[in-house]
Amino acid sequence: PIQVIKILMTNGVMANINQLVDFDTAAIVANELGFEAALESLEEVEEKETGEIPLWRQVIMNEDPRSLVKRPPVVTILGHVDHGKTTLLDAIRHSNVASGEAGGITQHIGAYQVEHHNQLITFLDTPGHAAFTAMRARGAQGADIVVLVVAANDGVMPQTREAIAHAKAARVPIIVALNKVDRPDSNPDFVKRQLAENGLVPDEWDGDTMIVPVSAKQKMGIEDLLEAILLVSDSMDIRANPNGKVLGTVIEAQVEKAKGVIATLLVQNGSLEMGDIIVAGTSMGRIRAMFDYRNRKLRKAGPSMPVLVMGLSDVPAAGDIFQVYKNDREARAVVEERKTQAQNRQAAVPKATLEQLFERYQAGETRELCLLLKADVQGSLEPIVSELKDLNKSEIKVTILQAEAGNVSENDVMLAAASKAIVLGFNVTADTAARRLAEAEGVSIRLYDIIYRLTEDIEKALKGMLEPEF
Ligand code: GDP
Repeated sequence: PIQVIKILMTNGVMANINQLVDFDTAAIVANELGFEAALESLEEVEEKETGEIPLWRQVIMNEDPRSLVKRPPVVTILGHVDHGKTTLLDAIRHSNVASGEAGGITQHIGAYQVEHHNQLITFLDTPGHAAFTAMRARGAQGADIVVLVVAANDGVMPQTREAIAHAKAARVPIIVALNKVDRPDSNPDFVKRQLAENGLVPDEWDGDTMIVPVSAKQKMGIEDLLEAILLVSDSMDIRANPNGKVLGTVIEAQVEKAKGVIATLLVQNGSLEMGDIIVAGTSMGRIRAMFDYRNRKLRKAGPSMPVLVMGLSDVPAAGDIFQVYKNDREARAVVEERKTQAQNRQAAVPKATLEQLFERYQAGETRELCLLLKADVQGSLEPIVSELKDLNKSEIKVTILQAEAGNVSENDVMLAAASKAIVLGFNVTADTAARRLAEAEGVSIRLYDIIYRLTEDIEKALKGMLEPEF
């Protein structure tokens, strides 16, 4: 790693050990070391590194390539609280003048679409990252692009870093919306430096992250942001078969007194039609009514289209995959099977302990140990991170998803569960909610008050020598 970093630096890339570099840069480094770099497809990389491709993506991969057509990109907006996610989503929603329906009545169904230069973009309208986490934890990874909102007066904050970690783990490209540039105390250059330090190097500095200055409040820069989204999506393979196998993800769902269960579904492949029999999680039903976010009745909805549907028996969970089945009998069998599976799973929660990670490594299932680090103060993080990075010479790659000051929270556990990571705490505690979630999700939280004990444990784990816990 040191050699690689040296070459990167002589080429003007101030990289740290966990940083992603683009293919061209990697190819130059490889070349200087006497190797030739070959480009793998995203699917190949995912298959190798995580062993699991989201079901919807697998379905699309199994479609006849000739049947695949471009679909609108699905965008999710993440960022620290109060940095302007909600305001930005509203500004984008109202920017939709091209369709000539500006000012039209829209309803919040958890997702909406806008048109820019005759191209549709789907936005997941669930500010906060709870839905995104839930989707990732279930391997759905529904979004194609993340727009990361960072307030230009406040800069990179804990939830900004968390969002970056999520997007990186899901391998979803990030566009930064540098918000609140109207404020007199905004400091874009400072924030850009912070972003670069977090692995998002602005394209104006020869990095590959687009950073778009906006003011969500004054509705400035919105066009540029939409433009950037289309640019990034054009460079990606965002396609599906509108006539293929029908499936997608549940965005949100609830019960309403008069209407029963209403659910927002994002169609990801095929076309969903009135009367279809669907199963989502352990909920099933026939689609009795279907609307878009403008409350217009629909008969049919194709890929990347968010729709509100009625007719499900129970409330499915956000992030559940839904699929269409031929008849009631088939659907019922799937639901029964899932209910039994869920009961069995409850009995044996898979654990992400150090011991088991090593077993998975030996079984060839993983080559990476993901860690989430919490410490009492910023000052204790640096020595721990640098010692952990030294361990990276072993065969198992050590990736530090996040290193932050503060007690172990529910959010940390959620991120760890989604990324099969282990939580390490130094001089901190884990709050009750975090411990409860860790137990339910099988996430291991290890707390230390001596640095070398912590690094020693990780070192032992990497060698497969760790004594079992308790
Ligand atoms: P969220 O928590 O990320 O969803 O943030 P909100 O959208 O609720 O915004 C938080 C606060 O910042 C609100 O008071 C907004 O009015 C304000 N705000 C959002 N965008 C801007 C902006 O572009 N400029 C200024 N000056 N204030 C903004």
